[in-house]
Order: sequence, then structure tokens, then C-alpha cells
Amino acid sequence: MSKPFVEEVLPQLFRAEIPLPNNPLRATNSYLIEGEERNLIVDTGMNRKECREAFDAALDELRLDLAQTDFFITHLHADHLGLVSELAAPTSRIFFNRPDALLAGFSELWKVLFEVARKHGFSDRELEEALSRHPGYRYSPTGPIDFEFLAEGDRLTYGPYTFTCIHTPGHTPGHLCLYEQSRKIFISGDHILGDITPNISAWDDAENPLLQYLQSLDKVLEMEIELILPGHRRLLTDSRKRIGELKRHHHERLKEVSAIVKAAGEDSAYQIASQMEWDIEAPDWERFPITQKWFAIGEAIAHLRYLEEEGVIGRRERGGAVLFHA
Ligand SMILES: [Zn+2]
Repeated sequence: MSKPFVEEVLPQLFRAEIPLPNNPLRATNSYLIEGEERNLIVDTGMNRKECREAFDAALDELRLDLAQTDFFITHLHADHLGLVSELAAPTSRIFFNRPDALLAGFSELWKVLFEVARKHGFSDRELEEALSRHPGYRYSPTGPIDFEFLAEGDRLTYGPYTFTCIHTPGHTPGHLCLYEQSRKIFISGDHILGDITPNISAWDDAENPLLQYLQSLDKVLEMEIELILPGHRRLLTDSRKRIGELKRHHHERLKEVSAIVKAAGEDSAYQIASQMEWDIEAPDWERFPITQKWFAIGEAIAHLRYLEEEGVIGRRERGGAVLFHA
């Protein structure tokens, strides 16, 4: 097993790339902060062997003792939260947010998600395949975790850093970033990413996560930030430029989705997603890996929900299926 990539980003603050085999995200960035008394690890990777091995090698290299280490998890997705219960020692504190913990602990979650996915055009065969391959289903923590909940404005001090929690709903309802005001550092989780755009998915019809996401981007736009430490890929220095790009991306997407709905007359989210442009390595929609199809349709629904709330499109339910029209 090769050693994971570990770099010192700032004094006492390290980034370790925890590999995610066969996943287009490639790796999760885990941040390790070395303190005098206690250390802090931000995000962990998935609950799978490859992540555990990489983590152990990184801890070894940095000589960090898990018994003196606490954890902060930005959001519920398995590539951030997955490994925490494996890594945490009995003496570790695990900081998380309440809205995401409710979702992660909701035993009927997959059943509800599947019912909604079926309404939006997924076939039974695809749903079965999606369940067997979904990383959230396969690589989440097993068993309950004793979280300590944090919310907007709460502070954590480790080593020379004092972080403030910034609530940034959108990618997930409870997503928390960490802001180090004196050094203008922002640990962004999956709220702001560089080479890729964070997935904004809606499955629940009561929510409008894209609106929340755009509002959360505007909130961060106001902050003085010199360095973004994201949950995946490279570090970023120009936060305002990147936020502008992400906002433009979603406004373009909204235009694309409303044009598709207009041209189609009436279509399911599944059919609409199949006509959108995707940056996915597959020759056509039919050959998209099922998990990518799942994220694509969730993303299509998020944009459809936004347009629906704006009064641009409407929906009709027919025979248990949801269809959108201009
Ligand atoms: Zn995520």
C-alpha cells in the first residue's frame, strides 16, 4: 500500500488525501491540526479498508495519537463522516451538526429516498442497482455515534487556531464550515470546491436546497478569506472569484433546465436529467454509472424545485409519477 499524500499547509495544520477508489471525487481532504493538548481532525473519508489504511499511514507520519484527538465532521456524506466511528478513541469528542445527524440516523431514509426516486422516473431495476452501489449505503458508519452538536457561531480552539462554525446549508441541510478569522482561513467541506461543483440534490419536495445553497454562497462572499481548504481537490485562494463561478454555474443550469421543460411540454425529472449536459465519463445517458445517474437526477430535481418556487414551472402527478411543465 502506497503512502497517502500528506502536506503541511500551515504551521501545525496538515492536509491528508484519503483515496476514494472508483469514485469520481478521487479523494477526500482530511485536515489534521496538531495541538498542545488535543488534536483535531476535520473529515475522515469512507468507512472502507482503503480509507482506513491511508488514514493510519497519515497518522503514523504525523505521529498523532487518536486518544488525544477530537473530530469535526462538516456534513453527513459517507466520504466525510464514514470513518469517524472507526477512528475515534473512547476519549475523542466528535463534533457534528444536528440537522445532518437527524438525517443520518433516520432508519427509513433509504426507503423514503427510493419512493421519491420512483415518482421522479427511476425504474425498479435501476433502484435496486443504485442501492447496491450507493456509497452512502455501503460506506457509512455502522452503529450510532455519540455526537456533540455545534451550530452557527460556536467556537473550537486547537493549536494556534480558533475556528468559528459557519452554517452553510445547501449541499446538506446542516453543513458546517470552519472559519479562522485572524488568519482568514476557511475550511469549506463540500460547500465550495475548486475543479468540480458541489452536488446540490433535492429529494424532498418540501425543500429548496438550491435556494439555500445560493444564499449560503452569498453569506461566505461577505467574509474575508485568503485560503479555502475544501473537502476535495486543491486548495483555493480567490474565494470571491470561485463563489462567482459557482453562482453563474447554477444560473446557467436553471436556464438549461427551464429550456428543456419548455421544449418538452411535460417530462419527468429523470427524462429532464437525461437531456442536461453532464461532465461524466460515459458515452451517453444510458451508460452513466448508476450512482452518477442518481446524483444527476437529484441535481435536476434541485433545479426544478427552485424554478417551481419561482413560479417558472409547475408540476402534475399522474399515476404516481411527477411530471413538470412550463
Ligand atoms: Zn458531500
